[in-house]
Amino acid sequence: MTATNERIINIISNNNTESKETSNLLKEKLKKRGFVIPTEYDERAELNICVGGDGAFLRAVHRYHFTNIPFVGVNTGHLGFFQEILPDNIDEFVDKYIKGDYVTEEIFLVKADICTQKDCFQLIGVNEIVIKGIRSKVVHLEIFIDGNHLENFCGDGIIVSTPAGSTAYNFSSGGSIVYPSLRTLQITPLSPISSRAYRSLPNSTIVPGDITISIKPEYRYENSILIVVDGFEIKYDNITNINFSMPDKTIRKLNFDKNMYWNNLKSKFL
Ligand code: NAP
Repeated sequence: MTATNERIINIISNNNTESKETSNLLKEKLKKRGFVIPTEYDERAELNICVGGDGAFLRAVHRYHFTNIPFVGVNTGHLGFFQEILPDNIDEFVDKYIKGDYVTEEIFLVKADICTQKDCFQLIGVNEIVIKGIRSKVVHLEIFIDGNHLENFCGDGIIVSTPAGSTAYNFSSGGSIVYPSLRTLQITPLSPISSRAYRSLPNSTIVPGDITISIKPEYRYENSILIVVDGFEIKYDNITNINFSMPDKTIRKLNFDKNMYWNNLKSKFL
């Protein structure tokens, strides 16, 4: 039995040496300040601390099913766009957390409702959901925004990204950076073909989060396409329709510095 006034914090760590050392240090410091750090993930925790890079953060969000427990990230990875605490600043982080010197931000998600000839599925992403051809084939997609036909896309695929994901695959593919509090989805083409044979929009389109983006694949050679959610690939056969939208569900992240987003952008991308 656990006491009801226990303050539980989950530490979710990558397995490399730096992450493990940082987690152990964090554990010691938090225990000294009266927190309970369980050996297994505990649903009753008040905070999830994720130690690693952005990949570790994305995996943790998926593994714990987009939990309502807020996240904070300690960066021991490469880029660490989501991971705002540096291992050297752990003491400052613990002090600020105890004082309540932070704000809780919502991270908007993207949802894909996918129907094949047999079944329907739902996928949720933090950064993005991508549609791609299999075996490097061109994909042909009819794109509708809020019921309006936009284009017959031809190319490598499309990315539908959230504002938080706009700095990831979307950005490398020529999409715009969108401030995280703007509730929008961005459709970004991957190598769009624009020629006498096919005409696809060359740039990304940003739409309000409360409207639906519908995609109807046209099959020319293959009847399968790939869906990639935050880097996890799934192959589907005979998809008839995909509806992208922004779910009401969000995840929460603690922010300890109001200038962090802009500092992060400058230091990590310029
Ligand atoms: P990964 O190796 O885990 O990530 C690729 C890079 O993207 C890493 O440097 C990662 O940071 C960074 N990253 C992840 N989310 C980010 C965000 N919101 N803002 C800025 N950078 C971010 O690759 P993966 O396992 O294939 O997929 C994970 C994510 O990587 C996907 O969601 C996708 O957005 C991105 N990705 C990018 C490209 C591309 O840019 N061409 C291609 C495929 C996937 P860390 O180093 O801290 O982990």
